[in-house]
Amino acid sequence: MLQDLLAHNERFLQQTRLPHVGHAPSKHTAVVTCMDCRLVNMFEPALGLERGDVLELRTAGATISSPERAAANNDLIRSLAGGIYLLGVRQVFVIGHTECGLSKVDPTTLTSTMQALGVDPQQLIQQYNLKDVNGLVDWIGAFKDVHLNVQEVVGVIRQSPFLPKIPVYGLVIDINTGELTVVDDASKATA
Ligand SMILES: [Zn+2]
Repeated sequence: MLQDLLAHNERFLQQTRLPHVGHAPSKHTAVVTCMDCRLVNMFEPALGLERGDVLELRTAGATISSPERAAANNDLIRSLAGGIYLLGVRQVFVIGHTECGLSKVDPTTLTSTMQALGVDPQQLIQQYNLKDVNGLVDWIGAFKDVHLNVQEVVGVIRQSPFLPKIPVYGLVIDINTGELTVVDDASKATA
């Protein structure tokens, strides 16, 4: 894999000269979405986004896991704060997607894979006060309904004391077609 990457990179450098683009997003926008590999080469064209347009933050599930919601202070909030205070972001889009892996986390698969890879789930559960396997599932950010989860993440971002009052939109993208559905158009929260 590494050799493939490096060989491709050599060809890329021979064939491509990138135009200079500033690091502040020209659309003053941050987009939070999932790490799903099917979004690669699909997500930006589906939204009409070009290089330099937006900050794109991709996390597993486009979510903030429930243990981190109460404090509204985690890596996603930190990244949004950097975007807003240092790079001129003035609106945020949270875009979950259909068929998200985090909407169908099987606790047994999770723990057995951990064990097979040399990580002891029970020890983690004890050490980090996760109570039981459900605590581990919550920790990884699992959710049931993507529309509901997007709405909740939008709420956490809106209420974070680290962030100013700016529009936060919630959407869901169909992973197979690229169709967007609006979950929260930000009209209620910014009045
Ligand atoms: Zn996903």
